[in-house]
Amino acid sequence: MGEHYRQLVEHLNEIYHINRATSLLRWDQQVSMPPGGAHARAGVIATLSRLEHERFTSPQTADLLAAAQAELNGAAYDSDEASMLRVVGQDYDRATRLPAELVADYAEATASAHKIWTHARQTNDFAAFEPALERIVDLALRRADQWGYTDHPYDALMQQYERGMTTARVRELFDGHKPQLVALIAAIKDSGVTVSDAILRQRFPIDQQNTVALKIVEAFGYDFKRGRQDVAVHPFAMRFSRGDARITTRFTEDYLPPALFGTFHEGGHAMYEQGISETIDGTMIGCGASLGMHESQSRLWENLVGRSRGFWGWALPQLQAAFPDQLGSVDLETFYRAINAVQPSYIRVEADEATYNLHIMLRFELESDLVAGKLKVADLPREWNARFEAYFGMTPPTDTVGVLQDVHWSSGLIGYFPTYALGNLLSVQFYNEAIKAHPTIPAEIAAGKFDTLLNWLCVHIYQHGRKFTAQELTERITGGAIRSEDYIQYLQTKFGDLYNL
Ligand code: ZN
Repeated sequence: MGEHYRQLVEHLNEIYHINRATSLLRWDQQVSMPPGGAHARAGVIATLSRLEHERFTSPQTADLLAAAQAELNGAAYDSDEASMLRVVGQDYDRATRLPAELVADYAEATASAHKIWTHARQTNDFAAFEPALERIVDLALRRADQWGYTDHPYDALMQQYERGMTTARVRELFDGHKPQLVALIAAIKDSGVTVSDAILRQRFPIDQQNTVALKIVEAFGYDFKRGRQDVAVHPFAMRFSRGDARITTRFTEDYLPPALFGTFHEGGHAMYEQGISETIDGTMIGCGASLGMHESQSRLWENLVGRSRGFWGWALPQLQAAFPDQLGSVDLETFYRAINAVQPSYIRVEADEATYNLHIMLRFELESDLVAGKLKVADLPREWNARFEAYFGMTPPTDTVGVLQDVHWSSGLIGYFPTYALGNLLSVQFYNEAIKAHPTIPAEIAAGKFDTLLNWLCVHIYQHGRKFTAQELTERITGGAIRSEDYIQYLQTKFGDLYNL
């Protein structure tokens, strides 16, 4: 490691420390801060974010990057040094393209839009939200222009969450499995098979829910010496280093799935962060590769492992021991069917595996058309409902459970939604690859052993942090591109079996 590289890392680490301190304030805000602290906390976070941005976009960063680049001397693409310069160079380029005035306008617009949206959603009043959303779309377009793009302004917006992904590629992936998804859901509806989830809708005391969920994620390999769990209204995972990757959970006393599968999901995110190599820990590339990659891991543990029949052969007796009155007499097959019931819902966050990606496709189509100028904000509710009817065979009765349901647009998160669906596609591609390498994995899972799978994921994905994009990782692991075939095949097999299709 050269002297200039060492200086660069020192400089970047200071900036990263400001970033982590800000995250800790956000964690505290969602986990333990009293509501009265909101105003003061917003001020502290705004100041720290400004300091971080100023330091990172300073000419000093450019000078240090250039000097370190000059002494790199052909270091391999996947070396820590070359990866750091490549990825941080891209971050720097994007961060310096936005004028300060646009950054401030955007922060202000999203902060006020969020309040307006909260009220509009409560009162089913899209018209009240319309001007605020128009402003956000307009500012998003200005940001896209500053960042630059060749084909579609949405390309530039997506880079914030999924480096290297393009609108054309997402469209191709989505169109590649949309007709099959629509057909699958229609076939399930027409199958005449009804699956009841009534056994999950009983009273489940929260303490026992917590104990059993934590026991299971610990068995997965989530290391509580390097993690912890708290309660939050909107569950999330947050990392400070590989030695401190935390999760949060929300409990519902009369419905078991949210806390149970939510803990598996956030545990998957946190295990990813705990698996990052020590050599890049605490640096700007020492975190998950992208939102899509992150979601592939939360989904893998939540669904591929956590909603599989084999897994519950091992886990159900533990759940029954925690809830003998509620579940003591339930057989494995009844339980497996209940946790996999397909129930088209208006609400994305309540969606099951079979319908989830359709919710995302709908949003992707609308927001990419919005920024391309093909769709007006005023026409969103009508367009939303028409597509919902076409994909799910039902029309949302209100905008509250339709176009107004998600927080993303009011927060300025345009280009974010596709990462959820990409995560689903990747979860199956990676899981299949792990089983190809170690055919014993399903049998091990059925015996409560998860280390072969976790080790494989660490070696092939987790340790690399942000060195590679999702596409690069997929290429390295599968020898091919991100694709939808594996995912749709997984769904058709699983739900074909459940619904006698
Ligand atoms: Zn997630």
